[in-house]
Amino acid sequence: MTAPRIGVLALQGAFREHRQRLEGLGAAVTEVRLGRDLGGLSGLILPGGESTTMARLMTEYDLWEPVRAFHAAGGHLWGTCAGAILLSRDVQGAPPQFGRQDSLNLLDVTVQRNAFGRQIDSFTTDLPVRGLDGAFTAVFIRAPAFTRVGDGVEVLAEYGGQAVMVRAGRVTASAFHPELTPDARLHELFVQRCAAPVPLA
Ligand code: GLN
Repeated sequence: MTAPRIGVLALQGAFREHRQRLEGLGAAVTEVRLGRDLGGLSGLILPGGESTTMARLMTEYDLWEPVRAFHAAGGHLWGTCAGAILLSRDVQGAPPQFGRQDSLNLLDVTVQRNAFGRQIDSFTTDLPVRGLDGAFTAVFIRAPAFTRVGDGVEVLAEYGGQAVMVRAGRVTASAFHPELTPDARLHELFVQRCAAPVPLA
């Protein structure tokens, strides 16, 4: 398998942890801040952080259309926590002063921000994830939940009766932080998917 080149959106949040994990698995990593950074990548991770801040920076750096075009051209996307919010069609729970929160609309789900409470309610749990043998230790930090899952979106993990990891085609979203535990299995699966040649649009 040739090592794929994978981008990590590096506007804000936990991008360094994803970078280290991917490099540990032999992938080449590009920190993405501008549309041109997406050239030559087969996948992009959108990390956790603060989705309102990231959305503002996506506008400032003019990244919305380049990321949509990257997906349309065959790129794989994986959003974790705030990154998952950025991928979703409908975002609920933004403070009223923000109005409607912008998103990429690449995943037909409704996402509820901070669905499990505030920072103090952050927790770690062993979660069964479809496609993995044995539970994955998942870290939830002011995590969202997918409260509506559209047709064609597969639920890969649930917690407390709510979907917390979903996938549709080349887009995966997890409400928890897989980069904060030593378990590399989910990153490994993403690297494998990205290693397949990117079809040209
Ligand atoms: N609560 C944050 C948001 O809504 C996400 C938190 C995280 O990424 N750990 O953007």
